[in-house]
Amino acid sequence: MKTIEDFNFEDKKALIRVDFNVPLNESFEITDTTRIEAAKPTIIKVLEDGGSAILMSHLGRPKGMHNPSMSLQHISSAVSEIIGVTVKFVEDCVGDAAIQAATNLQNGEVLLLENLRFHEDETKGGMAFAEKLSQLGDIYVNDAFGTAHRAHASTTIVAQFFNDQKCFGYLLAKEIEAIKKVMQSGEKPVTAILGGAKVSSKITIIENILDKVDHLIVGGGMTYTFVKAKGGKVGDSICEDDKMELALEILKKAEEKGVQVHIPVDVVAASDFSNDAATQIVAVDQIEAGWQGLDAGPRTLENFKQVIENSKTILWNGPVGVFEMENFAHGTIAVGNFIDEATKNGAFSLVGGGDSVAAVKQFGFEDKVSYVSTGGGAMLESLEGKTLPGIAAILGT
Ligand code: AMP
Repeated sequence: MKTIEDFNFEDKKALIRVDFNVPLNESFEITDTTRIEAAKPTIIKVLEDGGSAILMSHLGRPKGMHNPSMSLQHISSAVSEIIGVTVKFVEDCVGDAAIQAATNLQNGEVLLLENLRFHEDETKGGMAFAEKLSQLGDIYVNDAFGTAHRAHASTTIVAQFFNDQKCFGYLLAKEIEAIKKVMQSGEKPVTAILGGAKVSSKITIIENILDKVDHLIVGGGMTYTFVKAKGGKVGDSICEDDKMELALEILKKAEEKGVQVHIPVDVVAASDFSNDAATQIVAVDQIEAGWQGLDAGPRTLENFKQVIENSKTILWNGPVGVFEMENFAHGTIAVGNFIDEATKNGAFSLVGGGDSVAAVKQFGFEDKVSYVSTGGGAMLESLEGKTLPGIAAILGT
């Protein structure tokens, strides 16, 4: 795997695909700069080697149209501040102006290109458009994990114009390593904690990880499809009746493969889907009509604790309760604490995909787990066992 460490950028122009798709408020100020900070080490490495950096990204979904509200110019001064170098900006990512700006770029300088998605050929993966982008730099660096699952011009197609002059940036390399640690080379016991709302959105992940884990913890809204399938009463809890057969199949497959599945035994049931609802702790398979399970119960958490704290590799995807409501966040916070404890004892813990990252950030677990993935969809597809096109394009597979 070729990373940025394998190259010396002296006198070279690095064409870097970054993910600067940051949230902006109404005054076009960035409300969360995490993604820019995450790309900083890669940019600094290029500059310190004595090269220059050409940054390309998308912002929002302009759908191939020029849309001033989604101009990357809005973030140019913030990027300058974070990187510590005044960033130059060019109002189109291809064409004469871009070529001129790239040609004039001196070692130590940084150029930010306008939003790639102002051209519809970006998301279509246009070959001619990708070739034009490729003419701007000497070495292609992909450091945008968040878009690595898309076969877009700047994330995938462009790579073919660089022969062996292409590599992963630090951020993307770290993501790949973290996934590998869990999916291929994780120290045993390996535990996956899968929560969230629905079985249907996690089914491919479950099927893929059954070959890789020793323990599977099922939590959150998914629980009730499993419980009802086994003949339990789930009341008004979220449940996908059409996935019950699938749930039983998963349990059977898990048994065949020697995977221990841990499903909640008790839950916090609520009289309504509301933070102020009346609550009671009940057995997971004894929920009466008019009640719905919204969080893991105390006996369940004790079970989860034993499994998690004895694990050496942990993957966490999806909250085990409706964590957005304070009264049903307890289970998710407890799971975070168990993972924290396991990590302190030497386990490798990876949190990734969708809402688990939001939960981890909200409750301050970011620095307590080994790695928090930056890519929602890309992470989910990796866990499903798919080869991401942006990664394959660098590896040449
Ligand atoms: P996902 O994007 O699939 O990871 O789902 C995350 C969502 O699942 C969060 O918004 C949670 O509020 C929701 N969730 C977790 N547990 C439950 C539950 N018991 N009932 C309904 N929704 C839940």
